[in-house]
Amino acid sequence: MIAPVSSIHDTKGLLQTLPTLALDVPDYVYFAADNARCGAAEFYVKEGDRVLLGQLIGMRDGRFFKQPIHSSVSGTVEGFEEHYHRSGKKVKFLRIKNDHKDEWDPSIKDRSDEEIAKLTRADFAKILEANAMVGLGGSSFPTYVKFNNDKKIEVILINAIECEPYITADIRLMMEELEKVIVGITYLQIAFECKKVLICIKKKHRELIRMYQEYLRRYENSGIEVCPVGNFYPQGWEIAMIKSALGIDVATGHLPSEYGIANFNVSTVWGIYEAVKHNRPVYERRISVTGDGIKYPSNFIVRLGTPLAALLEKCGGYTEPDKDKVFILGGPMMGASLPSDDCIITKTVTSVLVFNHEAKEEAPCIRCGSCVYSCPTGLEPKQIMDAVKAFDKPRIKALNPLKCIECGLCSYVCTSHIRVTDYIRRAKMFAKTK
Ligand code: SF4
Ligand code: SF4
Repeated sequence: MIAPVSSIHDTKGLLQTLPTLALDVPDYVYFAADNARCGAAEFYVKEGDRVLLGQLIGMRDGRFFKQPIHSSVSGTVEGFEEHYHRSGKKVKFLRIKNDHKDEWDPSIKDRSDEEIAKLTRADFAKILEANAMVGLGGSSFPTYVKFNNDKKIEVILINAIECEPYITADIRLMMEELEKVIVGITYLQIAFECKKVLICIKKKHRELIRMYQEYLRRYENSGIEVCPVGNFYPQGWEIAMIKSALGIDVATGHLPSEYGIANFNVSTVWGIYEAVKHNRPVYERRISVTGDGIKYPSNFIVRLGTPLAALLEKCGGYTEPDKDKVFILGGPMMGASLPSDDCIITKTVTSVLVFNHEAKEEAPCIRCGSCVYSCPTGLEPKQIMDAVKAFDKPRIKALNPLKCIECGLCSYVCTSHIRVTDYIRRAKMFAKTK
């Protein structure tokens, strides 16, 4: 077993050198009946029904898109119970008892390479929609939507940047699933009839860059290249990545596709490979579980619906069990905090961070300007915060908070420990109202 680690750099540096662990599939898995953002799910199964791995068991009516729900185990439906959702609210979850047989649903069948070569972009969209593929980098945006158009795509960017501190699951995926990532990229080339692909990796990951460059020698003239990009945060923000890789400024309110660019997170590419080649929905994913609050930070392959408690146990439990903990789903900059560890892993969870709570009192703003200098979207967080405090709606709207990508930098750099990003979030809500 590895030694407990505490510093931000130790955790990230160490974890990216260690293999991903496959977590034992738990006895029970859970699927949210209500994700607290969209409407309630309609389940097609009832208590006592037997379900198969990969079986479609329900449908959630998203505000804009339907979201199919698939079982991540074979077993028996047992009913409902409440747990925390990543929204921070307690919601009802369907409980399935795992029979540990992993019996696949008959719809899970491989496609031959010849079949895949003949698929159109519309075919890809149908496959990804049926398999409930979403952005696995944490965006949870339905992937099929990116395929559901006939826009000319000149270049595909693969976001392998993983720029948030602590998280290393994508880097390990890149190392451990290299062939699937490259084959997944060739599927994107087929779908978009686009040869040029740039895999964007931070310059500091020299070994990973070398590994991919070396491997790509066997894909000669494929059009796939590695593109080293800057080591800064938020380099993984798609607008910053496009600027670094292609020198193109995507104007506010415009989409990369309007510039002939399609971009995909590297975990999403892996998911696309699984959906297209094996017709498998996302039933498991890789996540980092780390932070100074747990003994043995690790990367895991986890079945969807696994309770967080099972992961924490595998991490050796808490470093200081008597101290209050801060739980964050996602990265420390853009993640969502949770009131407890009673939460369930869903396909949008990229990482779980557990910290020993250190109370830092907010001090008055000293007008240092750090939040303004560090904002990647050119906003004035201090001014927006003042406008929110004054309930000055016209001023809030004039300061254009909707440009904010919630990167968290303004809070991170604030020497007065003011949670500036929380004010910007409130400003965004104000700006959306009349
Ligand atoms: S979170 Fe703060 S720093 Fe980041 S984009 Fe929004 S205002 Fe700018
Ligand atoms: S970083 Fe903090 S202290 Fe400095 S101007 Fe912004 S809000 Fe004020």
